[in-house]
Amino acid sequence: MTNRVVVFTGPMKTAKTLRLLHAYQAYAANQKRAKVIAFKPRADTRYNDKCIRTRLNPDVCIPAEIVDSSAEILKLVKPSIDLVLIDEANFFDPDLHYVVMKLRNQADVFVTGLDKDFRGLPFGPMGQLLAIANEVHKLKAYCDVCKKELAEYTQMLENGQPASAFVDTITPEGSVKTRTYETRCQEHFIPPHDLDEWIRVR
Ligand SMILES: [Zn+2]
Repeated sequence: MTNRVVVFTGPMKTAKTLRLLHAYQAYAANQKRAKVIAFKPRADTRYNDKCIRTRLNPDVCIPAEIVDSSAEILKLVKPSIDLVLIDEANFFDPDLHYVVMKLRNQADVFVTGLDKDFRGLPFGPMGQLLAIANEVHKLKAYCDVCKKELAEYTQMLENGQPASAFVDTITPEGSVKTRTYETRCQEHFIPPHDLDEWIRVR
């Protein structure tokens, strides 16, 4: 039996979690007695309840464990589990890909996460996750500038200007009032002005 590691990724506003929900519902319909466990990182404060939710269908809840680390996921997945769901994987620690490699020996693993941070670079463990996945759905959003469905980037703005590369990426949407986010295509994404400096000192 070959287990699957499926990743739904892209910038913000690509309905990643809705895709996860649909994949989960199709799986559950096909394998009626499937045992499923879902996880989301504590860093995701969009919803405080123990649910994975999509803003496109907020009444639907996939019951989820809120965890602080990828090691916790490994501890909580019992041998009887058939499917593991992980939402907002970009907020997890760098060991997540190794945890997913281990989980794949016993279960299917469906993951969502932003592939790139606001600098345009791989976000947290996502680069490695994409490497080990055997099914990747790279989704595009509508560009907030040209309105074409070509956006691959999440642009962070501070008071309307592209943010410095030195801003912490673990700041959930809405937690800083001066900060807004837009989805942008390659042509309209503006990398931070100090990205070279950040790369040198990080
Ligand atoms: Zn554009």
